Amino acid sequence: MRRLFGNLLVNVLLLAFVGGWLGVLAPISAGYWNVAYKIISRDASNSTVVVTLGDDVTWTTGDQARLLRQLRRQMPTRVFVDANIVASGNANEDSELREAVDSFGKDIGFVARSGKPDHWDESAFRFPARSIIGDAPVFFSAWNANFLYYPESSPFVARIGGRDYKSLSFALAGEPDKFEHQFTPDFSISPDSIVTISATDLASGRFAPGLLTGRTVIVVESGRNQPMNYFGHGMAQPYAFDVAGEAALRKPFGIMFGGPLYGVPFLPVLVLTAFGLLIAQRERRNRRRYLLYFANLLCILVLPIALGLIGIFVTPDAAATAFALFLAIRLWQKRTRRIQQTSASGLPNLLALTEGAVPVGQDMVVTVVARWEEILATLPKALHGELAQQIARRLSIGSGCSDIYHGDGGHFAWLDEARPLETQLNHLEGLRALFSAPLQIGDHTFDTNIHFGLDRNEGLDALTRLNSALASAAEALKNGRTVEYFEASRLAEAPWELSLHARIDEGLRNGDIWLAYQPQWDYRENRISGAEALIRWNHPTRGPIQPDAFILQAERAGRIDTLTYWVLEQAISAAETMNALGPHFQMSINLSAQMVDKPSLVSSVSEIVRRRGIDCRLLTIEVTETSSVHNRPAARHNLGQLRAMGFRLSIDDFGTGEASLSYLAELPSDELKLDKRFVSAITTSDRNRKIVSSTIGLAHALGQVVVAEGIEDIATFNLLRELECDHGQGYFIGRPQPFPQLREHYSGMVEQRGRSVSDTFRGC
Ligand code: C2E
Ligand code: CA
Ligand code: CA
Repeated sequence: MRRLFGNLLVNVLLLAFVGGWLGVLAPISAGYWNVAYKIISRDASNSTVVVTLGDDVTWTTGDQARLLRQLRRQMPTRVFVDANIVASGNANEDSELREAVDSFGKDIGFVARSGKPDHWDESAFRFPARSIIGDAPVFFSAWNANFLYYPESSPFVARIGGRDYKSLSFALAGEPDKFEHQFTPDFSISPDSIVTISATDLASGRFAPGLLTGRTVIVVESGRNQPMNYFGHGMAQPYAFDVAGEAALRKPFGIMFGGPLYGVPFLPVLVLTAFGLLIAQRERRNRRRYLLYFANLLCILVLPIALGLIGIFVTPDAAATAFALFLAIRLWQKRTRRIQQTSASGLPNLLALTEGAVPVGQDMVVTVVARWEEILATLPKALHGELAQQIARRLSIGSGCSDIYHGDGGHFAWLDEARPLETQLNHLEGLRALFSAPLQIGDHTFDTNIHFGLDRNEGLDALTRLNSALASAAEALKNGRTVEYFEASRLAEAPWELSLHARIDEGLRNGDIWLAYQPQWDYRENRISGAEALIRWNHPTRGPIQPDAFILQAERAGRIDTLTYWVLEQAISAAETMNALGPHFQMSINLSAQMVDKPSLVSSVSEIVRRRGIDCRLLTIEVTETSSVHNRPAARHNLGQLRAMGFRLSIDDFGTGEASLSYLAELPSDELKLDKRFVSAITTSDRNRKIVSSTIGLAHALGQVVVAEGIEDIATFNLLRELECDHGQGYFIGRPQPFPQLREHYSGMVEQRGRSVSDTFRGC
């Protein structure tokens, strides 16, 4: 209930209804009708002719009798006399008049008129003397006026002095079947167009022959009645209202003030406007909303006059009030909100994004710029806005979305088309690539790195979705991943994730977690000379779990240390076994970025190698995702220590992270692993071949050994040899395989050196 009355539209409609009900909005309608009837002004039909008695002459009963006789000669269908009919005392003249009246039989009527609008008292009316008119019918002419003294309506029948009288308009219209409480004259009839002739002209025959024949005639004393306000036409003689009333009653509908609209003629347009505004309010697209507003306004302006033309009287005042109030308040709210919803950069802020619902088929995307505070600190304050705008421009170009919202702490958000997940992730990956080119702000140049949070929970409210995307972006930034996303389906995973801690320990204990070894080929020695240990988890109920996924979960669950040291122990055993079988065999393990800067890393590793008594030179540590290392100096220190102990260091996935080159310059390393993305395309893409070839040259110049990953066919395998690559790894050489299989193949190979590599390891 509180929500209902807190709603702007409901309040505005209530206000308009009360205003309409009390009649205080009549000036609006009066203004409207004045303009409308001026525009659609038209001529009266000439079926009614008015004969005016000049007020300069006193009309005796004898004169009146003469006039009626003259009229009768013209053979009108009916005559209505609106004049002062009183017995004069001259018996001859009075009886002359009575005879003239009688001669019309049923075709004559008399009019009792109230001199002023809203005067319904018997004394306000002037009745003709019964001694003269006998039992000829008497009709009344009197009007209800609005707030501004505009006669607006009349009853069909009025009770005056205890007797019922029919309205003159009703009689003029031929007493149609429809019969309501009230009717409204058709003010489009121009009063000036009503055919009138003066009684003097009638007497002297100065009028077109046949003018009165077959017509209805009203005889009026023009001088005795006050003109009244007549919509759209200034002031008019009272007979004009009778004629306009007749025109109204001849129309197909006569709902007027009667029937269901009695007292509430403003209601139909108000209800329509309520619907119109409700629909417009829900429309998010501006163009459509403006169109709806326009249609609504048109409806308010045209409907009353259009319905009036067929005889249905409705007023626009309440609807116009509701419409104008609603729009004015909305505009004002929008203006103040625009002020509240603009960030210092001039871009709309995140609050603006939470306005209204997220349209169907849209993902919410948040991007966070890494090291934002650091970047701001190096820029003069005047350029902060420019920085945000340049980033927003890039995001807008890359995403194809024009509305980019800017929040604190280097957050930018927008709504994007909800593509299939895989496509969406690729799309964001591409967007990230746009940021590999540095930003140029004034004289300052910045390298930026961005991370995304994606929310795909269609149907939730905008604020919840924004918060979810923000949380995901924070997670992506923390873990150094391009995108983190949140989908309702992942909620189902939550309990599983929560219990991951225990499950990893269990998996390690019962052998569900194990290491696969992928052989590495040495091009110079033409033999298998090492392997990379890759973790595997065959979950009893979930089946195989991708290492990428569960390494991430293990990092979140704080279980990555356990896993890493377990891998190290296993790899040491494997390296010992392999080296016992034949020549030097190098064993590689992967070190999570989360581990690289840990203060305990070096001591834990050295405790293990000391206990196992292994030569550290047999082990290679692969490091990747350098951008997410929190404490770079600590990482540098740890890696330096490990290298000093004898471990070989390898930069994994070289060429994918934007920091690869700076990493190469910054950290001590022995090996560079070319990412499979470049390698797999070297036989088809000239460009990729050149990249790989020059990277090999660069690595060699720096004294590094190059390992190419992802060799899947013989052409790639051979081409890499030509490009002077040192080592190769990939499905063509051997798939990741259980240790016993690796050992078996390796010992076989050691026994029969010279057999082709593909025959030995491929298809494992
Ligand atoms: P990575 O270190 O880049 O490992 C190489 C990935 O490439 C492996 O995926 C491997 O199976 C796959 N691969 C090898 N040859 C080919 C090929 O010819 N074609 C294609 N298409 N793929 C090939 P896998 O085993 O799914 O491992 C995924 C990632 O999980 C690894 O990427 C690594 O980052 C991580 N990971 C695996 N084991 C461990 C671990 O013990 N510790 C840590 N921290 N991360 C690990
Ligand atoms: Ca690796
Ligand atoms: Ca790799």
